[in-house]
Amino acid sequence: MATNSWANGLVKTLKDPTTHIISSNLAAVIQDKYAKAKHHYLVLPFEDIPSIFNLTSQHISLLQEMHLLALNVIEVKGQTQDNFLIGFHNQPSMQRLHLHVISKDFVSDCLKTKKHWNSFNTALFLNYDDLIVQLNENNKVKRLDSVTIKELSNEDLKCNQCTYVAKNMPSLKQHLLEHYEKKKKKQ
Ligand code: AMP
Ligand code: ZN
Repeated sequence: MATNSWANGLVKTLKDPTTHIISSNLAAVIQDKYAKAKHHYLVLPFEDIPSIFNLTSQHISLLQEMHLLALNVIEVKGQTQDNFLIGFHNQPSMQRLHLHVISKDFVSDCLKTKKHWNSFNTALFLNYDDLIVQLNENNKVKRLDSVTIKELSNEDLKCNQCTYVAKNMPSLKQHLLEHYEKKKKKQ
């Protein structure tokens, strides 16, 4: 993982308490600066844990606290848990462990590439519950090999709400917007 100043952006944000949407003694929730959906938050621990690959089963109570903060921010924003993904990227790009809390609409101008989509909608995304299982069973998180990462990044653009497979990102984004607007009308 890179250690340049860009990769340290989350740590810089975390150091400024005015950016904390909610927090506890152990962790805080911030807004994702390039949100890939209508709601996209990150939960970061104050402890200097670089990534999921530094976790062991000893971190489970901290992770449970981070998960509680994830549920809290969903509630604070007046949303429901069913409409969210909560988990980690199997191949993180930014320093400091961060738990993604993202709404499943994926309606955002910042969602631009196939890689973005597949990083949340294939096995490149490690659900919180699955990470806990790995820590309980193996005391560490398994790294995906580079061939698997490449294959998953290049998977077809499958809609997360129906059987549609998009030819390209503009078609997928238009389709996701239609799902979003239909849901909004029903509410
Ligand atoms: P990951 O691929 O799991 O490392 O995701 C890093 C996340 O951090 C992405 O969703 C980015 O949009 C987000 N991000 C990048 N820089 C910042 C920043 N300075 N403040 C808040 N979020 C950021
Ligand atoms: Zn669909």
